[in-house]
Amino acid sequence: MASERQHSPGMSRRALLGRTAAAAAGATALTATTAGPAAAATTRDVDVAIVGGGLAGLTAARDLVAAGRTVAVLEARGRVGGRVVNLPLAGGGVTEGGGEFIGPTQDRIKALADSLGVATFATYNTGKNLLYKDGKKTPYATDGLLGSVPPVDVAGLANAAIVQASLDDMAKQVPVDAPWTAAKAAEWDKQTFESWLNANAVVPSAKFLLDVACTSIFSAEPRELSLLFVLFYIAAAGNESTPGTLERLTETAGGAQELRFVGGSQLVPQKLAATLGDRVVLNAPVRTITRSGGRYAVTADGVTVTARRVVVAVPPPLAARITYDPLLPAARDQLTQRLPMASVGKAIAIYDTPFWRADGLNGQVVSDTGVISSTFDNSPPDASYGALMGFIEADEARKLDAAGEAEVRAAVLKDYVTYFGEKAASPTSFVLQRWNNEAYTRGGPVSIAAPGVLTQYGPALREPVGGIHWAGTETSVHWMGFMDGAVRSGERVAKEVLAAL
Ligand SMILES: Cc1cc2nc3c(=O)[nH]c(=O)nc-3n(C[C@H](O)[C@H](O)[C@H](O)COP(=O)(O)OP(=O)(O)OC[C@H]3O[C@@H](n4cnc5c(N)ncnc54)[C@H](O)[C@@H]3O)c2cc1C
Repeated sequence: MASERQHSPGMSRRALLGRTAAAAAGATALTATTAGPAAAATTRDVDVAIVGGGLAGLTAARDLVAAGRTVAVLEARGRVGGRVVNLPLAGGGVTEGGGEFIGPTQDRIKALADSLGVATFATYNTGKNLLYKDGKKTPYATDGLLGSVPPVDVAGLANAAIVQASLDDMAKQVPVDAPWTAAKAAEWDKQTFESWLNANAVVPSAKFLLDVACTSIFSAEPRELSLLFVLFYIAAAGNESTPGTLERLTETAGGAQELRFVGGSQLVPQKLAATLGDRVVLNAPVRTITRSGGRYAVTADGVTVTARRVVVAVPPPLAARITYDPLLPAARDQLTQRLPMASVGKAIAIYDTPFWRADGLNGQVVSDTGVISSTFDNSPPDASYGALMGFIEADEARKLDAAGEAEVRAAVLKDYVTYFGEKAASPTSFVLQRWNNEAYTRGGPVSIAAPGVLTQYGPALREPVGGIHWAGTETSVHWMGFMDGAVRSGERVAKEVLAAL
Protein backbone atom coordinates (compact mmCIF):
# COMPACT_ATOMS: atom_id res chain seq x y z
CA MET A 1 0.00 0.00 0.00
CA ALA A 2 1.35 3.43 -0.88
CA SER A 3 2.01 5.54 2.15
CA GLU A 4 0.89 9.13 2.15
CA ARG A 5 4.51 10.21 2.44
CA GLN A 6 5.34 8.46 -0.83
CA HIS A 7 2.32 9.88 -2.52
CA SER A 8 3.11 13.35 -3.77
CA PRO A 9 5.10 16.37 -2.72
CA GLY A 10 1.83 18.27 -2.34
CA MET A 11 0.56 15.85 0.23
CA SER A 12 3.77 15.82 2.21
CA ARG A 13 3.56 19.57 2.40
CA ARG A 14 0.00 19.38 3.63
CA ALA A 15 0.88 16.75 6.21
CA LEU A 16 3.63 18.95 7.53
CA LEU A 17 1.45 22.01 7.62
CA GLY A 18 -1.30 19.95 9.21
CA ARG A 19 1.07 19.16 12.04
CA THR A 20 1.96 22.81 12.37
CA ALA A 21 -1.69 23.72 12.52
CA ALA A 22 -2.34 21.03 15.11
CA ALA A 23 0.47 22.40 17.21
CA ALA A 24 -1.01 25.85 16.84
CA ALA A 25 -4.31 24.48 18.08
CA GLY A 26 -2.52 23.23 21.17
CA ALA A 27 -2.34 19.55 20.21
CA THR A 28 0.31 17.37 21.77
CA ALA A 29 -0.26 14.31 19.60
CA LEU A 30 2.63 11.91 19.39
CA THR A 31 4.13 10.67 16.17
CA ALA A 32 4.77 6.95 15.80
CA THR A 33 8.33 5.86 15.12
CA THR A 34 8.44 5.57 11.35
CA ALA A 35 12.12 5.99 10.62
CA GLY A 36 12.37 2.54 9.03
CA PRO A 37 12.62 -1.14 9.87
CA ALA A 38 15.47 -0.60 12.30
CA ALA A 39 13.43 1.78 14.46
CA ALA A 40 12.08 0.17 17.62
CA ALA A 41 8.31 -0.17 17.73
CA THR A 42 6.56 1.07 20.86
CA THR A 43 3.70 -0.74 22.58
CA ARG A 44 0.78 0.50 24.62
CA ASP A 45 -1.91 -1.29 26.61
CA VAL A 46 -5.29 0.42 26.76
CA ASP A 47 -8.96 -0.42 27.15
CA VAL A 48 -9.88 0.66 23.62
CA ALA A 49 -7.76 1.01 20.49
CA ILE A 50 -9.26 3.40 17.95
CA VAL A 51 -8.28 3.20 14.31
CA GLY A 52 -8.61 6.57 12.56
CA GLY A 53 -8.28 10.13 13.85
CA GLY A 54 -11.14 11.66 11.86
CA LEU A 55 -14.16 13.21 13.57
CA ALA A 56 -15.63 9.76 14.29
CA GLY A 57 -12.56 8.26 15.96
CA LEU A 58 -11.77 11.41 17.93
CA THR A 59 -15.37 11.75 19.17
CA ALA A 60 -15.38 8.12 20.29
CA ALA A 61 -12.10 8.73 22.13
CA ARG A 62 -13.51 11.83 23.84
CA ASP A 63 -16.52 9.94 25.19
CA LEU A 64 -14.53 6.89 26.26
CA VAL A 65 -12.00 9.05 28.11
CA ALA A 66 -14.85 10.97 29.75
CA ALA A 67 -16.14 7.61 31.01
CA GLY A 68 -12.76 6.86 32.58
CA ARG A 69 -11.41 4.46 29.94
CA THR A 70 -7.93 4.43 28.48
CA VAL A 71 -7.66 4.81 24.72
CA ALA A 72 -5.13 5.15 21.92
CA VAL A 73 -6.13 6.70 18.59
CA LEU A 74 -3.98 5.46 15.73
CA GLU A 75 -4.07 7.88 12.79
CA ALA A 76 -2.35 7.03 9.50
CA ARG A 77 -1.73 10.57 8.37
CA GLY A 78 0.54 13.18 9.90
CA ARG A 79 -2.57 15.17 10.84
CA VAL A 80 -6.00 14.57 12.35
CA GLY A 81 -9.32 15.28 10.62
CA GLY A 82 -9.34 12.80 7.73
CA ARG A 83 -11.85 14.08 5.19
CA VAL A 84 -11.81 17.48 6.93
CA VAL A 85 -8.69 19.47 6.12
CA ASN A 86 -7.60 23.11 6.16
CA LEU A 87 -5.28 23.94 3.28
CA PRO A 88 -2.92 26.85 3.89
CA LEU A 89 -2.93 29.74 1.42
CA ALA A 90 0.22 31.39 0.15
CA GLY A 91 -0.96 34.82 1.32
CA GLY A 92 -1.98 33.58 4.78
CA GLY A 93 -5.19 32.02 6.03
CA VAL A 94 -6.66 28.68 5.09
CA THR A 95 -9.29 27.24 2.82
CA GLU A 96 -11.07 23.92 3.19
CA GLY A 97 -10.22 20.94 0.99
CA GLY A 98 -12.84 18.56 2.40
CA GLY A 99 -15.98 18.77 4.53
CA GLU A 100 -16.81 22.36 5.41
CA PHE A 101 -20.55 23.16 5.50
CA ILE A 102 -23.06 22.38 8.22
CA GLY A 103 -26.77 23.10 8.47
CA PRO A 104 -30.04 22.59 10.34
CA THR A 105 -30.53 19.28 12.19
CA GLN A 106 -26.78 18.62 12.13
CA ASP A 107 -26.92 19.01 15.88
CA ARG A 108 -24.01 16.86 16.95
CA ILE A 109 -21.27 18.51 14.88
CA LYS A 110 -22.65 21.89 15.95
CA ALA A 111 -22.60 20.87 19.62
CA LEU A 112 -19.06 19.57 19.27
CA ALA A 113 -17.86 22.78 17.60
CA ASP A 114 -19.61 24.89 20.26
CA SER A 115 -17.96 22.86 23.02
CA LEU A 116 -14.56 23.54 21.47
CA GLY A 117 -15.19 27.23 20.88
CA VAL A 118 -15.21 27.00 17.09
CA ALA A 119 -17.69 29.60 15.80
CA THR A 120 -19.80 29.44 12.65
CA PHE A 121 -20.72 32.02 10.04
CA ALA A 122 -23.26 32.03 7.21
CA THR A 123 -22.11 30.75 3.84
CA TYR A 124 -22.11 33.73 1.47
CA ASN A 125 -25.54 33.65 -0.12
CA THR A 126 -26.36 37.24 -1.05
CA GLY A 127 -27.19 37.97 -4.69
CA LYS A 128 -28.11 35.70 -7.52
CA ASN A 129 -27.21 32.12 -8.32
CA LEU A 130 -26.10 31.38 -11.86
CA LEU A 131 -27.48 28.70 -14.14
CA TYR A 132 -25.19 27.84 -17.07
CA LYS A 133 -27.05 25.62 -19.49
CA ASP A 134 -26.90 25.07 -23.25
CA GLY A 135 -24.17 27.71 -23.46
CA LYS A 136 -26.35 30.38 -21.83
CA LYS A 137 -25.90 32.16 -18.48
CA THR A 138 -29.03 32.88 -16.44
CA PRO A 139 -28.62 34.64 -13.09
CA TYR A 140 -31.58 33.90 -10.82
CA ALA A 141 -32.81 34.98 -7.40
CA THR A 142 -33.13 32.30 -4.73
CA ASP A 143 -35.68 34.00 -2.48
CA GLY A 144 -38.66 33.17 -4.68
CA LEU A 145 -41.03 30.22 -4.63
CA LEU A 146 -38.46 27.87 -6.15
CA GLY A 147 -35.69 28.56 -3.65
CA SER A 148 -32.40 27.69 -5.28
CA VAL A 149 -33.94 25.42 -7.96
CA PRO A 150 -32.51 26.67 -11.27
CA PRO A 151 -35.14 28.24 -13.57
CA VAL A 152 -35.34 25.70 -16.37
CA ASP A 153 -38.48 25.51 -18.54
CA VAL A 154 -41.89 25.29 -16.85
CA ALA A 155 -42.47 21.67 -17.86
CA GLY A 156 -39.10 20.71 -16.39
CA LEU A 157 -39.78 22.56 -13.14
CA ALA A 158 -43.18 20.90 -12.78
CA ASN A 159 -41.71 17.46 -13.45
CA ALA A 160 -38.78 18.06 -11.07
CA ALA A 161 -41.19 19.15 -8.31
CA ILE A 162 -43.15 15.90 -8.67
CA VAL A 163 -39.95 13.84 -8.68
CA GLN A 164 -38.68 15.63 -5.57
CA ALA A 165 -41.96 15.07 -3.72
CA SER A 166 -41.95 11.39 -4.72
CA LEU A 167 -38.39 10.91 -3.48
CA ASP A 168 -39.24 12.57 -0.15
CA ASP A 169 -42.37 10.43 0.20
CA MET A 170 -40.49 7.21 -0.55
CA ALA A 171 -37.67 8.25 1.80
CA LYS A 172 -40.24 8.55 4.62
CA GLN A 173 -40.86 4.81 4.20
CA VAL A 174 -37.18 3.96 4.80
CA PRO A 175 -36.19 3.25 8.42
CA VAL A 176 -32.86 5.05 8.86
CA ASP A 177 -31.48 2.41 11.23
CA ALA A 178 -32.26 -0.47 8.86
CA PRO A 179 -33.07 0.68 5.30
CA TRP A 180 -33.03 -2.95 4.18
CA THR A 181 -36.20 -3.58 6.19
CA ALA A 182 -38.30 -1.02 4.25
CA ALA A 183 -41.46 -2.64 2.90
CA LYS A 184 -40.29 -1.91 -0.66
CA ALA A 185 -36.58 -2.45 0.01
CA ALA A 186 -36.23 -5.29 -2.50
CA GLU A 187 -37.96 -3.32 -5.26
CA TRP A 188 -35.97 -0.16 -4.60
CA ASP A 189 -32.64 -1.96 -4.20
CA LYS A 190 -32.82 -3.78 -7.52
CA GLN A 191 -32.70 -0.60 -9.59
CA THR A 192 -30.27 2.24 -10.02
CA PHE A 193 -31.21 5.83 -9.34
CA GLU A 194 -30.58 6.37 -13.07
CA SER A 195 -33.20 3.84 -14.16
CA TRP A 196 -35.72 5.29 -11.70
CA LEU A 197 -35.00 8.83 -12.94
CA ASN A 198 -35.34 7.72 -16.55
CA ALA A 199 -38.85 6.50 -15.75
CA ASN A 200 -39.84 9.51 -13.65
CA ALA A 201 -37.81 12.59 -14.64
CA VAL A 202 -39.13 12.38 -18.17
CA VAL A 203 -38.71 16.04 -19.13
CA PRO A 204 -35.03 16.52 -20.15
CA SER A 205 -34.54 19.68 -18.05
CA ALA A 206 -35.96 17.88 -15.00
CA LYS A 207 -33.52 15.02 -15.58
CA PHE A 208 -30.74 17.64 -15.79
CA LEU A 209 -31.75 19.11 -12.42
CA LEU A 210 -31.84 15.70 -10.75
CA ASP A 211 -28.53 14.67 -12.34
CA VAL A 212 -26.84 17.81 -11.01
CA ALA A 213 -28.39 17.28 -7.58
CA CYS A 214 -27.09 13.70 -7.62
CA THR A 215 -23.51 14.56 -8.51
CA SER A 216 -23.51 17.47 -6.05
CA ILE A 217 -24.76 15.33 -3.17
CA PHE A 218 -22.89 12.08 -3.81
CA SER A 219 -20.07 12.96 -6.24
CA ALA A 220 -21.38 9.92 -8.10
CA GLU A 221 -23.42 9.47 -11.27
CA PRO A 222 -27.05 8.26 -10.88
CA ARG A 223 -26.09 4.99 -12.62
CA GLU A 224 -23.70 4.16 -9.74
CA LEU A 225 -26.31 4.29 -6.98
CA SER A 226 -29.06 2.02 -5.75
CA LEU A 227 -32.42 3.81 -5.50
CA LEU A 228 -32.76 2.42 -1.98
CA PHE A 229 -29.40 3.92 -1.04
CA VAL A 230 -30.48 7.34 -2.38
CA LEU A 231 -33.75 7.14 -0.42
CA PHE A 232 -31.87 6.19 2.74
CA TYR A 233 -29.49 9.13 2.26
CA ILE A 234 -32.46 11.50 1.92
CA ALA A 235 -34.14 9.94 4.98
CA ALA A 236 -30.92 10.37 6.95
CA ALA A 237 -30.75 14.12 6.16
CA GLY A 238 -32.58 15.01 9.36
CA ASN A 239 -32.47 14.22 13.05
CA GLU A 240 -34.49 12.17 15.55
CA SER A 241 -37.48 14.56 15.33
CA THR A 242 -37.19 15.98 11.81
CA PRO A 243 -37.40 13.64 8.81
CA GLY A 244 -34.81 14.11 6.10
CA THR A 245 -35.65 15.77 2.78
CA LEU A 246 -33.90 16.15 -0.55
CA GLU A 247 -34.19 19.91 -0.20
CA ARG A 248 -32.21 19.90 3.06
CA LEU A 249 -29.39 18.12 1.21
CA THR A 250 -29.26 20.60 -1.67
CA GLU A 251 -30.03 24.00 -0.13
CA THR A 252 -27.66 26.62 1.17
CA ALA A 253 -30.06 28.71 3.34
CA GLY A 254 -31.99 26.22 5.48
CA GLY A 255 -29.95 23.31 4.15
CA ALA A 256 -26.71 21.39 4.53
CA GLN A 257 -24.63 24.24 3.06
CA GLU A 258 -25.93 26.96 5.41
CA LEU A 259 -22.97 27.56 7.75
CA ARG A 260 -19.19 27.37 7.76
CA PHE A 261 -16.61 27.35 10.55
CA VAL A 262 -14.56 30.43 11.39
CA GLY A 263 -10.91 29.45 10.93
CA GLY A 264 -11.79 26.46 8.76
CA SER A 265 -13.53 23.17 9.56
CA GLN A 266 -10.35 21.30 10.50
CA LEU A 267 -10.14 23.44 13.64
CA VAL A 268 -12.84 21.15 15.08
CA PRO A 269 -10.86 17.87 14.89
CA GLN A 270 -7.62 19.71 15.71
CA LYS A 271 -9.06 21.18 18.90
CA LEU A 272 -10.69 17.88 19.78
CA ALA A 273 -7.37 16.06 19.32
CA ALA A 274 -5.69 18.65 21.52
CA THR A 275 -8.00 17.64 24.39
CA LEU A 276 -6.81 14.04 23.96
CA GLY A 277 -3.09 14.88 24.05
CA ASP A 278 -0.71 11.99 23.48
CA ARG A 279 -3.53 9.48 23.28
CA VAL A 280 -3.52 10.41 19.57
CA VAL A 281 -0.66 8.86 17.61
CA LEU A 282 0.03 10.33 14.17
CA ASN A 283 1.79 8.66 11.23
CA ALA A 284 0.50 5.32 12.49
CA PRO A 285 -1.29 3.47 9.65
CA VAL A 286 -2.84 0.33 11.12
CA ARG A 287 -1.89 -2.79 9.15
CA THR A 288 -3.23 -5.70 11.22
CA ILE A 289 -5.78 -6.39 13.94
CA THR A 290 -5.12 -9.72 15.64
CA ARG A 291 -7.22 -11.38 18.31
CA SER A 292 -5.39 -13.34 20.93
CA GLY A 293 -7.45 -14.75 23.78
CA GLY A 294 -9.71 -11.96 25.00
CA ARG A 295 -7.49 -9.14 23.71
CA TYR A 296 -6.59 -7.54 20.42
CA ALA A 297 -3.21 -6.43 19.10
CA VAL A 298 -3.58 -3.49 16.73
CA THR A 299 -0.36 -3.09 14.80
CA ALA A 300 0.52 0.14 13.05
CA ASP A 301 3.81 1.33 11.61
CA GLY A 302 6.00 2.00 14.63
CA VAL A 303 3.47 1.17 17.33
CA THR A 304 1.40 -1.77 18.56
CA VAL A 305 -1.57 -1.21 20.84
CA THR A 306 -3.15 -4.02 22.82
CA ALA A 307 -6.73 -3.51 23.92
CA ARG A 308 -9.89 -5.25 25.06
CA ARG A 309 -11.96 -3.53 22.38
CA VAL A 310 -11.17 -1.99 19.00
CA VAL A 311 -13.07 0.78 17.22
CA VAL A 312 -12.43 0.94 13.48
CA ALA A 313 -13.39 4.50 12.48
CA VAL A 314 -12.29 4.60 8.84
CA PRO A 315 -14.39 4.47 5.64
CA PRO A 316 -15.45 0.90 4.72
CA PRO A 317 -13.04 0.50 1.75
CA LEU A 318 -10.17 1.58 3.99
CA ALA A 319 -11.28 -0.84 6.72
CA ALA A 320 -11.05 -3.55 4.05
CA ARG A 321 -7.35 -2.80 3.56
CA ILE A 322 -6.51 -3.84 7.12
CA THR A 323 -5.60 -7.51 7.71
CA TYR A 324 -7.80 -9.18 10.34
CA ASP A 325 -6.76 -12.33 12.15
CA PRO A 326 -8.97 -14.27 12.48
CA LEU A 327 -10.73 -13.40 9.22
CA LEU A 328 -13.83 -11.25 9.45
CA PRO A 329 -17.15 -12.97 8.72
CA ALA A 330 -17.78 -13.11 4.97
CA ALA A 331 -20.82 -10.82 5.23
CA ARG A 332 -18.74 -8.04 6.77
CA ASP A 333 -15.81 -8.47 4.38
CA GLN A 334 -18.03 -8.66 1.31
CA LEU A 335 -19.90 -5.55 2.48
CA THR A 336 -16.66 -3.57 2.56
CA GLN A 337 -15.76 -4.93 -0.89
CA ARG A 338 -19.00 -3.35 -2.14
CA LEU A 339 -18.96 0.15 -0.65
CA PRO A 340 -16.54 2.12 -2.85
CA MET A 341 -15.77 5.76 -2.27
CA ALA A 342 -17.36 8.18 -4.73
CA SER A 343 -15.02 10.43 -6.74
CA VAL A 344 -14.35 14.03 -5.73
CA GLY A 345 -11.90 16.89 -5.79
CA LYS A 346 -12.09 20.51 -4.77
CA ALA A 347 -10.48 23.41 -6.62
CA ILE A 348 -10.21 26.77 -4.87
CA ALA A 349 -9.06 29.88 -6.74
CA ILE A 350 -8.04 32.87 -4.64
CA TYR A 351 -8.50 36.46 -5.84
CA ASP A 352 -7.76 39.86 -4.31
CA THR A 353 -11.50 40.41 -3.87
CA PRO A 354 -14.72 38.38 -4.29
CA PHE A 355 -15.30 40.35 -7.51
CA TRP A 356 -18.44 38.41 -8.50
CA ARG A 357 -20.30 39.99 -5.58
CA ALA A 358 -20.13 43.40 -7.29
CA ASP A 359 -21.88 41.80 -10.26
CA GLY A 360 -24.75 40.79 -7.97
CA LEU A 361 -23.71 37.12 -7.89
CA ASN A 362 -23.37 34.94 -4.81
CA GLY A 363 -20.76 32.67 -6.39
CA GLN A 364 -23.03 29.62 -6.64
CA VAL A 365 -23.25 28.06 -10.09
CA VAL A 366 -25.16 25.12 -11.49
CA SER A 367 -23.83 24.08 -14.87
CA ASP A 368 -24.42 21.39 -17.49
CA THR A 369 -20.85 21.48 -18.73
CA GLY A 370 -17.17 21.66 -17.78
CA VAL A 371 -15.14 19.93 -15.08
CA ILE A 372 -16.81 22.12 -12.45
CA SER A 373 -20.59 22.00 -12.41
CA SER A 374 -21.14 23.53 -8.99
CA THR A 375 -19.34 26.33 -7.15
CA PHE A 376 -19.47 28.29 -3.90
CA ASP A 377 -18.07 31.58 -2.63
CA ASN A 378 -15.52 30.28 -0.13
CA SER A 379 -14.21 33.69 0.94
CA PRO A 380 -13.47 34.26 4.64
CA PRO A 381 -16.10 36.05 6.75
CA ASP A 382 -14.31 39.42 6.44
CA ALA A 383 -13.99 39.02 2.63
CA SER A 384 -10.36 40.13 2.93
CA TYR A 385 -9.82 38.08 -0.22
CA GLY A 386 -12.08 36.23 -2.63
CA ALA A 387 -12.20 32.44 -2.87
CA LEU A 388 -14.14 30.54 -5.51
CA MET A 389 -14.54 26.87 -4.66
CA GLY A 390 -15.64 24.33 -7.25
CA PHE A 391 -16.32 20.62 -6.91
CA ILE A 392 -14.80 18.19 -9.41
CA GLU A 393 -17.17 15.26 -9.24
CA ALA A 394 -17.90 11.74 -10.40
CA ASP A 395 -17.02 11.14 -14.10
CA GLU A 396 -15.28 14.53 -14.31
CA ALA A 397 -13.08 13.71 -11.31
CA ARG A 398 -12.13 10.30 -12.71
CA LYS A 399 -11.19 11.83 -16.08
CA LEU A 400 -8.65 14.01 -14.28
CA ASP A 401 -7.23 11.50 -11.77
CA ALA A 402 -4.02 11.08 -13.75
CA ALA A 403 -3.77 14.69 -14.98
CA GLY A 404 -1.06 17.00 -13.68
CA GLU A 405 -1.99 19.96 -11.48
CA ALA A 406 -1.37 22.47 -14.30
CA GLU A 407 -3.83 20.67 -16.56
CA VAL A 408 -6.52 20.57 -13.87
CA ARG A 409 -5.93 24.22 -13.00
CA ALA A 410 -6.31 25.25 -16.66
CA ALA A 411 -9.55 23.28 -17.02
CA VAL A 412 -11.00 24.70 -13.80
CA LEU A 413 -10.08 28.30 -14.58
CA LYS A 414 -11.59 27.95 -18.04
CA ASP A 415 -14.90 27.07 -16.34
CA TYR A 416 -14.59 29.90 -13.81
CA VAL A 417 -14.05 32.38 -16.69
CA THR A 418 -17.11 30.99 -18.47
CA TYR A 419 -19.21 31.56 -15.35
CA PHE A 420 -17.69 34.73 -13.85
CA GLY A 421 -15.82 36.46 -16.67
CA GLU A 422 -12.18 37.28 -17.51
CA LYS A 423 -11.29 38.40 -13.98
CA ALA A 424 -11.49 34.74 -12.95
CA ALA A 425 -8.57 33.89 -15.26
CA SER A 426 -5.88 35.26 -12.94
CA PRO A 427 -6.16 34.07 -9.35
CA THR A 428 -3.43 35.04 -6.90
CA SER A 429 -3.21 31.41 -5.89
CA PHE A 430 -4.89 28.11 -6.64
CA VAL A 431 -5.39 25.15 -4.33
CA LEU A 432 -6.37 21.66 -5.39
CA GLN A 433 -7.39 18.71 -3.25
CA ARG A 434 -8.01 15.45 -5.13
CA TRP A 435 -9.43 12.88 -2.73
CA ASN A 436 -9.29 9.94 -5.17
CA ASN A 437 -5.49 10.17 -4.95
CA GLU A 438 -5.29 10.28 -1.15
CA ALA A 439 -3.86 7.05 0.25
CA TYR A 440 -5.99 7.11 3.39
CA THR A 441 -9.30 8.20 1.85
CA ARG A 442 -9.31 6.98 -1.81
CA GLY A 443 -12.23 9.17 -2.92
CA GLY A 444 -15.16 10.93 -1.31
CA PRO A 445 -17.18 12.47 0.10
CA VAL A 446 -18.66 9.13 1.13
CA SER A 447 -18.90 5.40 0.38
CA ILE A 448 -21.75 4.62 -2.00
CA ALA A 449 -23.93 1.55 -2.54
CA ALA A 450 -24.98 0.10 -5.89
CA PRO A 451 -28.11 -2.09 -6.23
CA GLY A 452 -28.19 -5.19 -4.06
CA VAL A 453 -25.68 -4.06 -1.46
CA LEU A 454 -27.94 -2.73 1.31
CA THR A 455 -30.46 -5.56 1.12
CA GLN A 456 -27.78 -8.29 0.98
CA TYR A 457 -25.15 -6.86 3.32
CA GLY A 458 -26.65 -3.88 5.18
CA PRO A 459 -26.95 -5.61 8.58
CA ALA A 460 -23.15 -6.04 8.67
CA LEU A 461 -22.59 -2.26 8.58
CA ARG A 462 -22.64 -1.69 12.35
CA GLU A 463 -22.76 -5.22 13.77
CA PRO A 464 -19.63 -5.66 15.97
CA VAL A 465 -17.39 -8.62 15.18
CA GLY A 466 -16.27 -10.00 18.54
CA GLY A 467 -14.54 -7.05 20.20
CA ILE A 468 -14.24 -5.02 16.99
CA HIS A 469 -16.75 -2.16 16.64
CA TRP A 470 -17.41 -0.06 13.56
CA ALA A 471 -17.72 3.73 13.40
CA GLY A 472 -17.33 6.46 10.78
CA THR A 473 -19.92 8.58 9.02
CA GLU A 474 -20.91 5.62 6.83
CA THR A 475 -22.34 3.89 9.92
CA SER A 476 -24.54 6.80 11.01
CA VAL A 477 -28.32 6.70 10.88
CA HIS A 478 -28.54 10.50 10.61
CA TRP A 479 -26.46 12.58 8.21
CA MET A 480 -24.56 9.61 6.88
CA GLY A 481 -21.79 11.00 4.66
CA PHE A 482 -21.48 14.26 6.61
CA MET A 483 -19.37 15.56 9.48
CA ASP A 484 -22.47 15.33 11.67
CA GLY A 485 -22.82 11.63 10.85
CA ALA A 486 -19.17 11.09 11.78
CA VAL A 487 -19.68 12.70 15.21
CA ARG A 488 -22.92 10.77 15.78
CA SER A 489 -21.17 7.51 14.88
CA GLY A 490 -18.39 8.24 17.39
CA GLU A 491 -20.95 8.92 20.11
CA ARG A 492 -22.90 5.73 19.26
CA VAL A 493 -19.83 3.50 19.16
CA ALA A 494 -18.54 4.84 22.48
CA LYS A 495 -21.86 3.88 24.13
CA GLU A 496 -21.70 0.46 22.46
CA VAL A 497 -18.16 -0.18 23.69
CA LEU A 498 -18.87 1.08 27.21
CA ALA A 499 -21.82 -1.29 27.45
CA ALA A 500 -19.60 -4.17 26.33
CA LEU A 501 -16.53 -3.48 28.47
C1 LIG B 1 -14.59 17.01 -0.91
C2 LIG B 1 -15.43 16.71 0.30
C3 LIG B 1 -16.43 17.61 0.65
C4 LIG B 1 -17.23 17.36 1.75
N1 LIG B 1 -18.14 18.29 2.12
C5 LIG B 1 -18.80 18.14 3.30
C6 LIG B 1 -19.55 19.22 3.84
O1 LIG B 1 -19.58 20.33 3.28
N2 LIG B 1 -20.20 19.01 5.02
C7 LIG B 1 -20.12 17.82 5.70
O2 LIG B 1 -20.71 17.71 6.77
N3 LIG B 1 -19.39 16.81 5.21
C8 LIG B 1 -18.70 16.95 4.05
N4 LIG B 1 -17.88 15.96 3.60
C9 LIG B 1 -17.88 14.66 4.31
C10 LIG B 1 -17.15 14.71 5.64
O3 LIG B 1 -15.89 15.30 5.46
C11 LIG B 1 -17.03 13.29 6.17
O4 LIG B 1 -18.32 12.71 6.25
C12 LIG B 1 -16.42 13.19 7.57
O5 LIG B 1 -15.32 14.04 7.71
C13 LIG B 1 -16.02 11.74 7.82
O6 LIG B 1 -15.39 11.60 9.08
P1 LIG B 1 -14.97 10.14 9.58
O7 LIG B 1 -14.26 10.32 10.86
O8 LIG B 1 -16.12 9.24 9.50
O9 LIG B 1 -13.95 9.60 8.45
P2 LIG B 1 -12.56 10.21 7.96
O10 LIG B 1 -12.58 11.69 8.03
O11 LIG B 1 -12.28 9.59 6.64
O12 LIG B 1 -11.53 9.70 9.04
C14 LIG B 1 -10.91 8.45 8.96
C15 LIG B 1 -9.47 8.61 9.42
O13 LIG B 1 -8.86 7.32 9.40
C16 LIG B 1 -7.55 7.44 8.89
N5 LIG B 1 -7.17 6.13 8.37
C17 LIG B 1 -7.54 5.51 7.23
N6 LIG B 1 -7.00 4.27 7.17
C18 LIG B 1 -6.29 4.10 8.31
C19 LIG B 1 -5.50 3.06 8.85
N7 LIG B 1 -5.32 1.88 8.22
N8 LIG B 1 -4.89 3.24 10.05
C20 LIG B 1 -5.05 4.40 10.74
N9 LIG B 1 -5.78 5.43 10.27
C21 LIG B 1 -6.40 5.28 9.08
C22 LIG B 1 -7.65 8.53 7.85
O14 LIG B 1 -6.40 9.13 7.62
C23 LIG B 1 -8.65 9.49 8.49
O15 LIG B 1 -8.01 10.47 9.27
C24 LIG B 1 -17.04 16.18 2.51
C25 LIG B 1 -16.02 15.30 2.17
C26 LIG B 1 -15.22 15.55 1.08
C27 LIG B 1 -14.12 14.59 0.73
